[in-house]
Amino acid sequence: MAANARQIIVIGAGIGGLAAALALQRRGFRVAVYERAPEIREIGAGVVIAPNARRALRDLGVDAALEAVSCSVSVIHTCDYRTGEIVRTNRNEQIIERQGMGVLQVHRADLHALLMEAVRANDPAALWPGHEFVGLDQDAAGVSVTFANGACCRADVVIGADGNTSAVRSLLFPGEAPRFNGQVAFRALIPDELVPAVFQQRQFAMHPAPRRYLLHYPLRRGRIMNLIGCGQTASWQEEGWAIPATNEEFEEHYSDFAPELLALIRSIPPGGLFKWGLRDREPLKTWTLGRVTMLGDAAHPMTPFLGQGACMALEDALLLGRAFAAASTVDEALSRYETARKTRGTNVQLWSREEGMALQDPSRPRRTALDRGLYDYDPLGVPV
Ligand SMILES: Cc1cc2nc3c(=O)[nH]c(=O)nc-3n(C[C@H](O)[C@H](O)[C@H](O)COP(=O)(O)OP(=O)(O)OC[C@H]3O[C@@H](n4cnc5c(N)ncnc54)[C@H](O)[C@@H]3O)c2cc1C
Repeated sequence: MAANARQIIVIGAGIGGLAAALALQRRGFRVAVYERAPEIREIGAGVVIAPNARRALRDLGVDAALEAVSCSVSVIHTCDYRTGEIVRTNRNEQIIERQGMGVLQVHRADLHALLMEAVRANDPAALWPGHEFVGLDQDAAGVSVTFANGACCRADVVIGADGNTSAVRSLLFPGEAPRFNGQVAFRALIPDELVPAVFQQRQFAMHPAPRRYLLHYPLRRGRIMNLIGCGQTASWQEEGWAIPATNEEFEEHYSDFAPELLALIRSIPPGGLFKWGLRDREPLKTWTLGRVTMLGDAAHPMTPFLGQGACMALEDALLLGRAFAAASTVDEALSRYETARKTRGTNVQLWSREEGMALQDPSRPRRTALDRGLYDYDPLGVPV
């Protein structure tokens, strides 16, 4: 029997918030999503969507459309950062054989747009941009929510999907803030025609190095190369995902990498390079307080080293929908959701941190998301 929630509010229209809205809508719930940005859209960057998350997307009805606009390279390489020599190979066909589907390299904006269209198709009035969540007040009957623009509304349940710097989390569990974890990442999208020819042979490659790594993979059927460099730094970086950076600055941090990797950095078009300081948080004891819970980066913000943050948000979203469908009260739904998700979310959060240390320190053994069996998870099959 479905939980008796007539109105559910989601704060944040990122990948997690939109997927949660869709999972709930598809199970018959009415959802309103409030987003602080004046226009709901994603940044230009890549994201790897692994089979564990694709199972959620399949249930949400967007996996096939996403696959059609994304890439799924046949080989994923790990290479020596100084010579470019291949030291390890993972074949997508082996992943497909075991998982029934491969790993997708996705433009974030494509995934976001598909989720948004699906939510709007179910309910054209579900999305509310220009609404920055600032406060909530809950009682036995419901939750009142207020926004910076003066608007307020009431619902049976509130889901905080407002990302790493979550205001919902700060209100529920004050006194703890994200901290800079000493690493700065660079990101760029490079049009295929500017990418050095050598990368036609190794399109998806990770180059671990002491205190840094470079990762690249193709997006949009190979029309764009996504390049990420991540490394330790002594200096603090200001908040934000889109701080402009220069190719010279990027190259300086990676000057001992193979010549073709430096050529790849130099091929970034003007204005196409951004940087940000990575932030980390300790796991919470619980994600839920009364009628309010959280998902995605709001609940379990993680470093990017296992490439699973968005995948976890998608898994959360599906389990939230399933929990509401299975429960007969709001309390029961939130309890089922958190019980189903808390251990996995916390583990992946901690393992990402561990993998970050291994990735940048050759003396430590690496254990990727594949090695850790993270792709085996089926968000439709786990009990809720
Ligand atoms: C370098 C890097 C590479 C990554 N690569 C991968 C990868 O390959 N695979 C993978 O699975 N994950 C990856 N991730 C992680 C992934 O990007 C995040 O985990 C994912 O985007 C989290 O989604 P979310 O919806 O929880 O939060 P977000 O995407 O941050 O969305 C939060 C939304 O809430 C809105 N919001 C914030 N505050 C408010 C407010 N007060 N009121 C209203 N709205 C608000 C924001 O504007 C935003 O739209 C990577 C991350 C990084 C940094």
